[in-house]
Amino acid sequence: MIKTPKLVMIPGPTPVTRSIQDQMGRETVAFGDPFFVQDYKDVLADLKELWKCSGEVFVVAGSGTLAMEMAIANITKRGDSVLICSNGYFGDRFIDMCQRKGLEVDVLSAKWGTSVTAEEVEKKLSEKKYDVVTVTHVETSTGAAAPIDAIGKVVKAHGALYVVDGVAASAGAEEYMDPMGIDVLLSCTQKAFGVAPGLAILWASKEAVEKRRSLGTIPESYADFEKWLPVMHDPSKYWGTPAINLVWALKESIRIIKEEGIEERYNRHLRQAALVDAALEAMGFRVAAEKPFRAPTLSVYLYPEGANVNDAEFRTVLAEEGAQTAGCLADFAGKGFRMGHMGNVDKHILVSAVAAVERAAMRCGIDIEPGKGLGVLQKGLAEEH
Ligand SMILES: *Cc1c(COP(=O)(O)O)cnc(C)c1O
Repeated sequence: MIKTPKLVMIPGPTPVTRSIQDQMGRETVAFGDPFFVQDYKDVLADLKELWKCSGEVFVVAGSGTLAMEMAIANITKRGDSVLICSNGYFGDRFIDMCQRKGLEVDVLSAKWGTSVTAEEVEKKLSEKKYDVVTVTHVETSTGAAAPIDAIGKVVKAHGALYVVDGVAASAGAEEYMDPMGIDVLLSCTQKAFGVAPGLAILWASKEAVEKRRSLGTIPESYADFEKWLPVMHDPSKYWGTPAINLVWALKESIRIIKEEGIEERYNRHLRQAALVDAALEAMGFRVAAEKPFRAPTLSVYLYPEGANVNDAEFRTVLAEEGAQTAGCLADFAGKGFRMGHMGNVDKHILVSAVAAVERAAMRCGIDIEPGKGLGVLQKGLAEEH
């Protein structure tokens, strides 16, 4: 039989649509090329507007982890205190990063599959003065989303700077800078933006930029906002060579976001997450994140209760059937798989991915009724047109 192409259904990178691929395939120009400079300017202006940011935006070559490091590097100095709100593996990633920076670190952890709440943050902040609070918007190891708006109100009331890791959320889950009181929102291109990996994106509030200025010279150079600001204000200037083709790809991604409408894009993600979750539940899989915390961008699906599934084998068969998914981490390792349903995923992709899960389940001896999950998905997709 002809080989089935694998859909990239891991929680990033996500499927890259043809028109975005085409931008990456263009002939590269000089970074000072006036047409490229204009494209870069347009990307920055759109990101500020769409995320309601009256501060600054940075787009630099690097992955999401660089964006995390840049956030911390620019608003803290040795000895500052930080409260890390962690809902899992990526929340924890801030711990080592902040300790290396010489910060005084406290961690507020949630049970896996849930999120730290605004009430818990309020309690912590009323007990001790923190300079910075970090939250992971969508925790990629559990599929749980944090209530970033409610937490932001608490953080602002206590005068701390608010950092949100939006890597597995931005462009798929609602995020607004000024209205939510976010000081640094960090992200990158390969998740809900639907671009290949390679660009770090950061939005910074005026307060965050002021804090950076108040620090004088910082130990970091490439990660320094002050080094990049002249370029972000005038992309014909040079600091580090921009990833030209990825900037074009991001521009096309933003065009797609604007064509869909960002509010509608957030709503679509909510609808399609609920549908894919319902389809997998109809097959007997369990969604690891508890209901009020389920993320609109990705899910952790635990194998059906009592099913004797060889995890590595299941995911290999699922990939053969056409959907590449990711293994679970830490508390959930071996118990299920992680699947993204974010970015530029259309009906064809959703149907194919759920159908692949059905075939893999049948091949791996999981007792399911063929078509049951797909039926739930199809009905939902038809109802919303
Ligand atoms: C993927 C991810 C990261 C890390 O991003 P990289 O591009 O892999 O460096 C950080 N935070 C969250 C929430 C993520 O999902």
